[in-house]
Amino acid sequence: MHRGRTGGFGRALLVVVTGRRALDEVVVDALAPQVLAPVIGEERVAVIETAAHAARAALHGRRIFNVNSTASGGGVAEMLQTLVAYGRGAGLDVRWLVIQGDPAFFAITKRIHNRLYGTAGDGGPLDSEERVVYERTLREHEDALRALVKPGDVVLVHDPQPAGLIPALSAAGAVVIWRCHVGIDVHNEWSEGAWRFLRAYVDAAHACVFTRRMFAPSWMADERVHVIAPSIDPFSTKNRELSPDEVHTILSHAGIIAGTPTTTVTFSRRDGSTGTITRHADVLQTGPPPPPELPLVVQVSRWDHMKDMVGVMEGFVRHVDGTAGAHLMLVGPSVTGVTDDPEGAAVLDECIQRRHLLPHEARARVHLACLPMHDPDENATIVNALQRHATVVVQKSLAEGFGLTVVEAMWKARPVVASRVGGIADQIADGEHGLLIDDPLDLAAFGGAVRSILESPTLAARLGAAARERARNEFLGDRHLEKWGELFVRCVADA
Ligand code: UDP
Repeated sequence: MHRGRTGGFGRALLVVVTGRRALDEVVVDALAPQVLAPVIGEERVAVIETAAHAARAALHGRRIFNVNSTASGGGVAEMLQTLVAYGRGAGLDVRWLVIQGDPAFFAITKRIHNRLYGTAGDGGPLDSEERVVYERTLREHEDALRALVKPGDVVLVHDPQPAGLIPALSAAGAVVIWRCHVGIDVHNEWSEGAWRFLRAYVDAAHACVFTRRMFAPSWMADERVHVIAPSIDPFSTKNRELSPDEVHTILSHAGIIAGTPTTTVTFSRRDGSTGTITRHADVLQTGPPPPPELPLVVQVSRWDHMKDMVGVMEGFVRHVDGTAGAHLMLVGPSVTGVTDDPEGAAVLDECIQRRHLLPHEARARVHLACLPMHDPDENATIVNALQRHATVVVQKSLAEGFGLTVVEAMWKARPVVASRVGGIADQIADGEHGLLIDDPLDLAAFGGAVRSILESPTLAARLGAAARERARNEFLGDRHLEKWGELFVRCVADA
């Protein structure tokens, strides 16, 4: 086994090489859950301390490995930063491993991902040939995994990409929990096809965790299904407080809003070091960037069909454009930055093509931005500033396991307009913590909701304040950790 260090993700990344494929280990610094006290209060800190104590006693030195398929970009990587940091801070030995794959492997796993959301994706097959490619890629990681994972260790396998490793990990004596972050409420022929592909693998897990009960397939026994909602960390680079001056300097430096920054822009990393914003966003616009004083409607997402960036653009141009002089900013990662998402470039391209067809006037108010992904803290700082600057944050997804971007905006007290799909329906009560669109394809309803916020600062302030309290009460890391702690205790006892 060889363990080397690489610096490509801004955080330490170890490469574990045994057998034919390397596993990347993302090294995350520990964060004591007690630091959350100023936002969650001592009572909730005491609850998490009790849960941590119980988990430490039950695990008794066993390690907890997370296995997923990307170290940055998207909700799972984002959430793992929080979970691993606070888990380690709670005295548990929590680690994070990332599998590798080639384009053929990720084309298949993206197909499974799209089907679990009930859509055809690229329309390709999920048959025996795909199974051969999928299993071959995963088998190539087995030696490296076996060198690290010992009998009795707990392994959290995230999403479909590494799910095929579950039988081998279980056979090696690990307690395996499959964490599925995606799903739909009403299953259809596409999702059933994906479940047929996955069933043999996920059946070997001790437990399966979903964001909503309805996401689980009908054949999965109730006692194996657990429901845990994701969370955010209020102190991460993505969510920490920024002053209005910092927000303007960061965004003008990145080239996202108009202005000439006079100072260097620094940001604090989670490990305490200081970084400097050195990269600009790639922004496609007609004319200058939006002036800071004009309202900005923002959607931050991976470039994924399910996020319907094109629909946001159409809805904005047809039903919002002209209201209060607002501009629209569609924001995603640089398309080379998310290793497990092969569709990013095509979706961005579609947005570019559709934008070209807009009338000149409308085009000047619609901006597409790709954020640099070389340094995740730099990227997170820009996203943080954008979400804080936004007059309205939108998430017009066609399907969604859970919208991290929605909670991130809620924590920043921004008014949100989102589709009532999947986990978002649990995050926002319509009219209370944000506005929900019943049918994500109803562009008039979407535009009407955005307009109502742009036209009423009172409504915007009320929704934003309630959103922040909702995020504080339900979606911060302690809630999440407490549930995981309970599950570890239960699974280890069962095993
Ligand atoms: N994100 C980011 N940079 C980007 C685009 C997205 O950091 O350029 C983050 C976003 O802030 C959120 C996550 O990626 O934390 C997306 O999670 P979400 O649950 O909204 O969607 P997913 O990507 O998991 O489908």
